[in-house]
Amino acid sequence: MDNCLFCKIVRGEIPSKKVYEDEHTFVFEDIDPKAPTHVLIVPKKHIEGLNKATSEDAEIIGRCHLTAAKIARERQIEDGYRTVLNVGPKSGQSVFHLHVHLLGGRDLRWPPG
Ligand code: 5GP
Ligand code: ZN
Repeated sequence: MDNCLFCKIVRGEIPSKKVYEDEHTFVFEDIDPKAPTHVLIVPKKHIEGLNKATSEDAEIIGRCHLTAAKIARERQIEDGYRTVLNVGPKSGQSVFHLHVHLLGGRDLRWPPG
């Protein structure tokens, strides 16, 4: 997508602090971190959000979560982390390219606000 912020980050047109990249996923530090670890895992394919995903996207959505688990393992935060998908404006979704937040490195409250 031409004018999608996260597509531009994946393409390197907008700088980011890259954490990891493979064939299907791209991971970078959130610009406004809410925890000691706060990274965003995005599929390289543009999908607007979970509410727009189809069964064709099942594998890539799974891959995003497995990439989150890999980063959590590497950062040694497996004693407690959270993966979050905000879906729709009322949830706080502000970038309409599907992304999994990985948050950890501190105690996390439940339920989230
Ligand atoms: P959402 O609110 O859509 O679930 O999450 C969007 C996230 O993207 C927010 O946590 C926000 O801080 C982050 N973000 C927005 N713009 C940029 C940017 O230009 N670079 C980076 N690295 N993160 C961004
Ligand atoms: Zn996009």
